[in-house]
Amino acid sequence: MQGGFLIDMDGVLYRGTQLIPGAEQFINLLLRRNIPFLFLTNNSQRTRRDVAIKLNRLGMPIEEKHVFTCSMATARFLAKQKPNGTAYVIGEGGLLQALHQNGYAIVDKSPDYVIIGEGRTLSFEMLEAAVQMILGGAKLIATNMDPNCPTQTGTRPGCGAIVALLERATGTYAFSLGKPSPIMMRMARKQLGLATSETIMIGDTMETDILGGVQMGYRTILVLSGSTKKEQLAAYAYRADLVIPSIQSLCSPLEAGHAILPPPASSDIDDTPMDLSQWTRQSHLSRPAG
Ligand SMILES: [Mg+2]
Repeated sequence: MQGGFLIDMDGVLYRGTQLIPGAEQFINLLLRRNIPFLFLTNNSQRTRRDVAIKLNRLGMPIEEKHVFTCSMATARFLAKQKPNGTAYVIGEGGLLQALHQNGYAIVDKSPDYVIIGEGRTLSFEMLEAAVQMILGGAKLIATNMDPNCPTQTGTRPGCGAIVALLERATGTYAFSLGKPSPIMMRMARKQLGLATSETIMIGDTMETDILGGVQMGYRTILVLSGSTKKEQLAAYAYRADLVIPSIQSLCSPLEAGHAILPPPASSDIDDTPMDLSQWTRQSHLSRPAG
């Protein structure tokens, strides 16, 4: 097949430490056929190496290059907006490492940005410091707005819940870089070198994976092995191109070399970079005077 996949992890490949049937087979098929793919996660806590090791232990021989986290999207975006900036961070290793790798310094006074990720080290003192920095002019950045996260034992508050507290306390809205942010969705596609019409997003969450894909003009596949129930789908104003029980449903068609989704009606939606020299030739800029 032409094209490739952006793949959410939790609820698609595994739940907690439990592998979802078909996940291993699907990933091995992609590897064997050299089909480009990237795991797209809104978990800002882990580094890409942490993620790769976790998937290795679940039996999937993937490498760091297959992982793209919301921490990476956040750090790369900020490094472009304000090179060598400073940040006060509520978050953990994955976020800190991504910021350091992109030329950022972590400070606890007068930062350019207050950046929020998830983690287990949150304290009231940190929230208080963050509030004062934001009121003092630091910009509030969210690695993602997920309100909560499923765990082995139930549900824990997510990054979006911490961000909501800071928004409420400061009267400031955060800028978020995680799924469904077009910034993260586009960076991932570019990393794979795919055109918009060649990109398929697979995920289990309508508000992040599917919305993110729909906004970008990617084709989307919703798996029902995670957070979304079939009965809930009618309530959404947008829909996935394909809804399947789990990633297992994709293995046989892929193995047989069949198209998983019909091709897009046209590739008009492609936002691949325009050929500037051609554009200049065609435009008034290069037209001879008179
Ligand atoms: Mg998920």
